Amino acid sequence: MRIENIEAIVLSESNIRANVADSSQDALIIRIYTDEGIVGLGEVDSSPYLVKAVIDGVRSSHLIANNIRDLLIGQDPFNVISIWDQLYLGTMYYGRRGVVIHAMSGIDIALWDIIGKALNRPICQLLGGARHSKIRAYASVLMPSTPSEVLAVVDRCLAEGFTAIKLGWGSLGENPKKTIELVKAARSAAGKEIEILIDLGLVDGRWDVATLVDLIKRLEEYEIFWIEEPLSPDDLEGYAKLAKAVDTRIATGEELSTRFAFRDLLDRGQVDVIQPDVTRVGGFTEFRRILDMAQLRGIPVVPHGWSTGIVRAANLQILAGMSNPLFLEYCVTESALNRKLVKNPFIVRNGFVDVPDGPGLGVDIDEDLMNRMRVR
Ligand code: MG
Repeated sequence: MRIENIEAIVLSESNIRANVADSSQDALIIRIYTDEGIVGLGEVDSSPYLVKAVIDGVRSSHLIANNIRDLLIGQDPFNVISIWDQLYLGTMYYGRRGVVIHAMSGIDIALWDIIGKALNRPICQLLGGARHSKIRAYASVLMPSTPSEVLAVVDRCLAEGFTAIKLGWGSLGENPKKTIELVKAARSAAGKEIEILIDLGLVDGRWDVATLVDLIKRLEEYEIFWIEEPLSPDDLEGYAKLAKAVDTRIATGEELSTRFAFRDLLDRGQVDVIQPDVTRVGGFTEFRRILDMAQLRGIPVVPHGWSTGIVRAANLQILAGMSNPLFLEYCVTESALNRKLVKNPFIVRNGFVDVPDGPGLGVDIDEDLMNRMRVR
């Protein structure tokens, strides 16, 4: 089998709300076409236009400053891990982290989708076999700014069948007093039995470790499952100090790409939970290596996932193979890309979502919606 063409497709809503942490308003979808008629599907949750440029860009003069398209055309998709290494090396001068690895992630997801479709097997079986047919999901939602809005958001998630809810960003980082007020409202709205997770989204590092230790200790009475992103992703020493000083789990990792970055997070950052995003970290190929590293250190891995049903399906394929999966992150924002681009509905039943069992990712795209939202 040979790769004949790659499409990097930018989808977008016509009116993007700026300055909110909702990347499901636009998307970068990848389709890889083969000479046997099999088409692989992938996605990247990053800056769509930059990822497209990395894939389609004009070839430069140096051997290790290539574009991805030229490196891929003519390859056999079954050489997926070798292709990963070739792309990494072939873009080394301007790649190695960030947007190039994001682009490689979408390519890698699409290649595994092709292999699954060629063998008529779901990706979880290609990665070693499914241990689980359904995964507990947490509703992932932006934190509103008042206790009454928190109540409405929590009620909506419970009505959809979730038994765990993560509230993130929004008004959580305004000041510690407000944070406590909002977390308290979430706990009282959810009751005792529901897991509450809090994503502070303080990636600008605006609060120091001492402030965070005090805050997180004061939040203990609300029994929060984890506190996510209290610090800048680069403040690994801060993470280590904080994780040591508090009992509540500290989680992070959605900004990182490659196993090299996760090695540093695990060994220097000493956090309790890591959250690689399969569409940013280097696809299934790199995610699997990170799972192995985390398992060696006894650290749980909960895939980060926002954006469309493609990410949801990819994460379910990964989680299905894990011995003790904690959660699927299930973005509940009402955008068309999140809810409708993939036809599979991913229904939540008693808090769990079924792992797609069709070949590859096991999802189908709504072609009409994609054509309507395509901007490049
Ligand atoms: Mg987050």
